[in-house]
Amino acid sequence: MRVELITVGTEILMGNIVNTNAAYLSEQCVGIGLSVLYETTVGDNEERMLDAIRRAISRVDIVILTGGLGPTPDDLTKEMVAKALGKELIEDAHSKEMIASYFQKRQKVTPNNWKQALIIEGCMVLDNHNGTAPGLIAEAENGVKCILLPGPPDELKPLFAEQVRPYLESLQEDHFYSKMVKICGVGESAVADRIGDLIEAQTNPTIATYAKIGQVHVRVTAMAKTPEEGERLLAPMMGELRKRFGDDIFTEEESVTLEETVVSMLREHGLTVSFAESCTGGMASARIVNVPGASDVLNASFVTYANEAKHKLIGVKKETLEKYGAVSPQTASEMAFGVAKAAHADIGVGITGIAGPDGGTPEKPVGLVYIGVAYGDDVAVIENHFSGNREKVRERSVNVALDLVRRALLVKKNS
Ligand code: ATP
Repeated sequence: MRVELITVGTEILMGNIVNTNAAYLSEQCVGIGLSVLYETTVGDNEERMLDAIRRAISRVDIVILTGGLGPTPDDLTKEMVAKALGKELIEDAHSKEMIASYFQKRQKVTPNNWKQALIIEGCMVLDNHNGTAPGLIAEAENGVKCILLPGPPDELKPLFAEQVRPYLESLQEDHFYSKMVKICGVGESAVADRIGDLIEAQTNPTIATYAKIGQVHVRVTAMAKTPEEGERLLAPMMGELRKRFGDDIFTEEESVTLEETVVSMLREHGLTVSFAESCTGGMASARIVNVPGASDVLNASFVTYANEAKHKLIGVKKETLEKYGAVSPQTASEMAFGVAKAAHADIGVGITGIAGPDGGTPEKPVGLVYIGVAYGDDVAVIENHFSGNREKVRERSVNVALDLVRRALLVKKNS
């Protein structure tokens, strides 16, 4: 089904407020399988609003309007939709009661507010529990549904989630079912390359990639009448992705993060990790600590920014720092071993690099980051050349560090 969004408000056209309602509604509609074909923004002007509404009714199945439902004379959305549909506005006793009870708890109701108890004849009323303007669903002669929603996001979002979304889902015969595959350690273009044939041949399910910093998420979406049919359509594509990406997949759960995966693997093995962070300045440890229950797997970490700190706190040899420099595989290796020892951790991670924008040389350019992971007597050091600004280099470094811990644990699991 085709959708047009109409956001009403001169403030939006003038750039005084950011049109977050349009982004929210588009994402929600697309998420349930509707095709959002147009987004129109129109000011609080009768003629242009009427024109926008009439045009939308002529070209889509569902028109969703937000804003302009307030009590003031320049709130015109309801009036213009009624006019476009050739319907009257009538007083709704239930909405009047809702408005009275809303104000009872707050302040005195002004005569203006009763304007909000007017509804389009024959429409469906959606109670607004967070404000006074109810939502309305009215139908045009040609069957097009006009859904009117309040502008304030804290009113719009709960109203949409609780009442409009189920209504829209009930209009559809087919529903979207989707699954997620989250990949680490493979760049976006490499992922696209490996599944180019699948993307090319996609029908139902479809497949889409989303590049994140240091990760690529692949969403597989099937259109089906029942969850069972959805599952049946998704299974072969999921199998194919598992075959192609194997251990590069860190989770198939929509809400699970890389750090959550790492923490749960460490717990599963009863192991602890510790980080010696130079250019990331504590970001890797913070990602781990973000996960509830992190204390089971992390006792201590060190931010060893200066050479002296690397030497004093985690025992990196002065000669190593002098001979190879702070940004070197040798230093990363000693940081990893040193921090594991200092923190009594099973796995030690050393991160040292040049995040920029200054400090790069032809031999050691900005974006060069060495990450070492020590586990028992073994250490693996990876040389990375990251692009992007300081923040991106640091964030990419953390992702690689967490992924290396994950891969070290996978090796343990498989050995
Ligand atoms: P009210 O009943 O509060 O008067 P309304 O339905 O008439 O609401 P508007 O008056 O158009 O809505 O907007 C009220 C406020 O809601 C705006 O000042 C703005 O803060 C927010 N708002 C409106 N439209 C949008 C939008 N498209 N995106 C983000 N915020 C919006």
